[in-house]
Amino acid sequence: MAKSLFRNEVYSAKAYVPGKPVEDLKRELKINEIEKLASNENPLGPSPKAMEYIKNEVKNINMYPDSAAKKVREKLAEKHNVKFENVVVGSGGEELIKTIAETFINPGDEVLIATPTFGKYATDVSFLGGIVINVPLDKEYKQDVKKIVESVNEKTKLIFICNPNNPTGNIMTKSEEDYLVKNLPQDVVVVFDEAYYEYAIKNKEYPESLNILKERPNTIILRTFSKVAGIAAVRLGYLLTSKEICEAMYKIKLTFSVNRLAQAAALGALEDKEHIEKTVELNYKSLALMEEYFEKNNFEYIKSSANFVFVNVNKDSKVVFQKLLEKGIIIRAGYLWGWNTWLRVSTGTIEQTKKFIEKLEEVLKAN
Ligand SMILES: *Cc1c(COP(=O)(O)O)cnc(C)c1O
Repeated sequence: MAKSLFRNEVYSAKAYVPGKPVEDLKRELKINEIEKLASNENPLGPSPKAMEYIKNEVKNINMYPDSAAKKVREKLAEKHNVKFENVVVGSGGEELIKTIAETFINPGDEVLIATPTFGKYATDVSFLGGIVINVPLDKEYKQDVKKIVESVNEKTKLIFICNPNNPTGNIMTKSEEDYLVKNLPQDVVVVFDEAYYEYAIKNKEYPESLNILKERPNTIILRTFSKVAGIAAVRLGYLLTSKEICEAMYKIKLTFSVNRLAQAAALGALEDKEHIEKTVELNYKSLALMEEYFEKNNFEYIKSSANFVFVNVNKDSKVVFQKLLEKGIIIRAGYLWGWNTWLRVSTGTIEQTKKFIEKLEEVLKAN
């Protein structure tokens, strides 16, 4: 038998299906304005401080970046009241999710995730021969902490908790999170993906997972500058964890994955409280507008503590997606997660949000 060219997992891996670039769509559809409410990006644009720092750094891009990202990690450690050796930075949270899988997964190890949740966890774990165990959401569309605890066995290596969960936008509360960690063996590593932390802390029931890390070393808290700081394109994510895990990760991580512009941008964004405040404030105004519309029309939606909302429009999401696209609005269709009549819509400026509501109304009336 001929030997196969690729690693076995390459054959079963699915290619990422990217959305079409806005530039291409404008040309194809012959429309000038396209509102992208599909990737939970910051509608106010990048942090101005981050842009300023990037401009100052451009002249140095002939030189490799600091592989230890010392300044950024120091600032992050200070901000979170942990030590430098508790911080790992990566080329977006995306790189760190892959690094987490690479650090812990042997073939046959089990990993618990909620379904639906952020797709990267399953992709990266499966690629390494890990077994993904899907735990469905409960009746209220929450991550089911009881079922998660019941699903743990001696093969369980990792648990990913996306909080707020993507695509549902709702949170795991402090008491649920406490129940979860109290009922887990110490050797199971829990990852709290808090990509939407700055939005979620407006919800009084949102946990402070750093308190858990203090008591429980096998805990990882993941955050990113892509969403609230508005610098998704330059790629910077970070995680907070024990010194032991941090050192293990730095042994295997790509050396220069966090480039100079990303490091500079992060330092700028960290000083830019004003941009974050404005962003979060706008977020909740945009959410309120959408909620008001959904309620008026009796659409079931999930109360969000993030910068997107998941709503059931009772129509084929593939069709609604296409019709909205033709009207210059891009959203994420629920069928991608197997929720065929649901849409995930990112918050936008007030104008973008109103335009989305108006166009959705047109689409639903016509179909
Ligand atoms: C956006 C996002 C991330 C990380 O995105 P990066 O741009 O790679 O930092 C991680 N987790 C969730 C749930 C996200 O939505």
